[in-house]
Amino acid sequence: MSLIVQKFGGSSVKDAEHVMNVARVVTDTYKKGNSVVVVVSAQGDTTDDLIEKAAEINGDSLASKREMDMLLASGEQISISLLAMAIQKLGYPAVSLLGWQAGFKTTSSHTWARIRKVDTSRIKQELDQKKIVVVAGFQGLSRYDDITTLGRGGSDTSAVAIAAAMHADLCQIYTDVEGVYTADPRKIKGAIKLNEISYDEMLELATLGAQVLNNRSVEMAKKYNIELEVLSSLTQKPGTIVKERPKMEKMLISGVAKDTNVARISVTCIPDKPGLAFKMFSKLSARDINVDIILQSIGRDGTKDITFTVPKDKGAEALQIIEKFANDNGTGAVHYDDKIAKISIVGAGMETHAGVASTMFEALYNRQINIQMISTSEIKVSVLIDKRDADLAVEAIHDKFFPDND
Ligand code: ASP
Ligand code: MG
Repeated sequence: MSLIVQKFGGSSVKDAEHVMNVARVVTDTYKKGNSVVVVVSAQGDTTDDLIEKAAEINGDSLASKREMDMLLASGEQISISLLAMAIQKLGYPAVSLLGWQAGFKTTSSHTWARIRKVDTSRIKQELDQKKIVVVAGFQGLSRYDDITTLGRGGSDTSAVAIAAAMHADLCQIYTDVEGVYTADPRKIKGAIKLNEISYDEMLELATLGAQVLNNRSVEMAKKYNIELEVLSSLTQKPGTIVKERPKMEKMLISGVAKDTNVARISVTCIPDKPGLAFKMFSKLSARDINVDIILQSIGRDGTKDITFTVPKDKGAEALQIIEKFANDNGTGAVHYDDKIAKISIVGAGMETHAGVASTMFEALYNRQINIQMISTSEIKVSVLIDKRDADLAVEAIHDKFFPDND
């Protein structure tokens, strides 16, 4: 008998029919003699709809983050209760638990909390009574006994955290695609499903905008060495295994990702003296704004320019901080652009093969797509381009690396 954690995303439970389908997948696993803990997200677009409701009240002003968490956590309360009912309707015992009931203790940074620990005693008690335990993903409780949420897409992390805390034998992440692909299969018809992928590659892909797994969940899976399987709740075919050392599939790259949640800020004519870059970026990090690609020009006439990217949803906040910095330090103009996209290729094969980056650049050149900025790491190359070219760029790059697959 094994302990299996299964997570179902919002699209897998979007209506009654889908909830019944999930109940069948779960009970099939249970019938084989396994203990099953199920983690679910809110149905369909529920979370977006709730955010919209808050905006109706708050307009452009920022809502209280504590109240946002109180609101957003309600989405998962609906899906867990419905799924537990569906399982019971099929004749099996089930109980639904909110994050706090399932023992999720988090930090108190509302809307972006981190899991501190999972006290699994209640889950164990329910499993001992042979129940299928249905847990609300994405939420927990701070040490002030306030409801918190883990950031968008956080239910993946909830599932991995339970798998780690309970030493589960398997953690399956069910979604609406059949696994991890070399590009978004909904957009690129030649996209290939990967049988296996390493944590590091998956982490890069997740961070770079491949929407299939939340990046914190991959980070946690790597840390606790939890093997993940990403698979479809509709087709039940074998999915993609995410683990430390995958069997080598002979591919130079394992994926092309697109991220349009990017904004670029340029500060011109910054006095060319030590400490100013530090001053500028520390102001952003103090507000939890992640800076990604950074480019600094060679100094001339005693000044230099610095250009960098931030997530677009933090763009307005970042711009405000930078304009103040520019004012205080007598720099030149500040430019802002959020009509851009970051296109990245990821692959462990890059470490041992030359020419991967130039192949990517050639694919872009062939379609006359201009590159604005470039950044690289051992296993990835990212370029910043005009947002209008984003889909074409992904297709061109994918075709170049996987030519036989159209
Ligand atoms: N319902 C939350 C969201 O949409 C959490 C999740 O889906 O994982 O972000
Ligand atoms: Mg969702």
